[in-house]
Amino acid sequence: MKIIAKPSIFQNIAKDLKYSGKAIGLVPTMGALHQGHASLIKRARKENDIVVVSIFVNPMQFNPGEDYRRYPRTPDKDSSLCRQLGVDFIFVPKPEMLYPKDYFSFINVETIGEVMCGKSRPGHFRGVATVVGKLFNIVMPDKSYFGLKDYQQSVVIKKFTEDLNFPVKIVTCPIIREKDGLALSSRNAYLSADERSRAISIYKSLQKAKNMIKYKKNVSAQSIVSVIERMIINFADKIDYIEVRDASTLDSIQRIDGSRKIVIAVAAYFGKTRLIDNILINGV
Ligand code: AMP
Repeated sequence: MKIIAKPSIFQNIAKDLKYSGKAIGLVPTMGALHQGHASLIKRARKENDIVVVSIFVNPMQFNPGEDYRRYPRTPDKDSSLCRQLGVDFIFVPKPEMLYPKDYFSFINVETIGEVMCGKSRPGHFRGVATVVGKLFNIVMPDKSYFGLKDYQQSVVIKKFTEDLNFPVKIVTCPIIREKDGLALSSRNAYLSADERSRAISIYKSLQKAKNMIKYKKNVSAQSIVSVIERMIINFADKIDYIEVRDASTLDSIQRIDGSRKIVIAVAAYFGKTRLIDNILINGV
């Protein structure tokens, strides 16, 4: 396994690999790797000749006052997990290598990047799309792997990849959870024992919503939002949003009637930690 920091060096390696006909799979991450990331890496390992994991805490996707500085960084643990999983390259650029002085170019996905997390974290998806676009140009993957845990992110990435004709297939992978249902996240490391025990309310509320939809078959989106809200409100320190949306367009919807696939997404704070989770409900 090679660890490479310089974009130009990686790009030359990628060109050689492509020239020799190797299929490259990329798993973009911010490090502090856990079993959620591992599931993406394992899938990439199965489907490609060469697996690249990028580890980059991307300053452009954090707003002032967010956790950029204190975001967990565990490089040694990350490398040993990657080695165990048979990763070929870790790409770990430094911020100034991706964003030199006088950096002016961005990828901005309108509309779907401006709702939900895009509304509470203005500019977040511009930062995400820009860095992922840069990674695509540097690593030149055939396929790139993303978790459904960050559902809106996966939609934003699919959209700009298609809109801007990046020759990359976007593969989405299921949410990996703790035994009690809490979605794995690098940010779970911030939670106190008390916050951790309250955080499970998100998953429980999503399960309850899913059962209600299965049982009733035709319900208003508002009634689902209310059920979720009632289940979380006494446990979360603040609810950021509870949204019911079309799973592919992220359009807001009024009724859940089985006619299309929908996503129910929640963002809430436990202490200072903002957690997100979601479930997909298939249409018929
Ligand atoms: P991050 O390091 O948080 O930027 O995440 C890197 C990738 O791992 C993203 O595509 C995430 O959606 C994915 N990921 C993070 N947590 C999970 C999880 N619990 N299950 C599946 N994928 C995940």
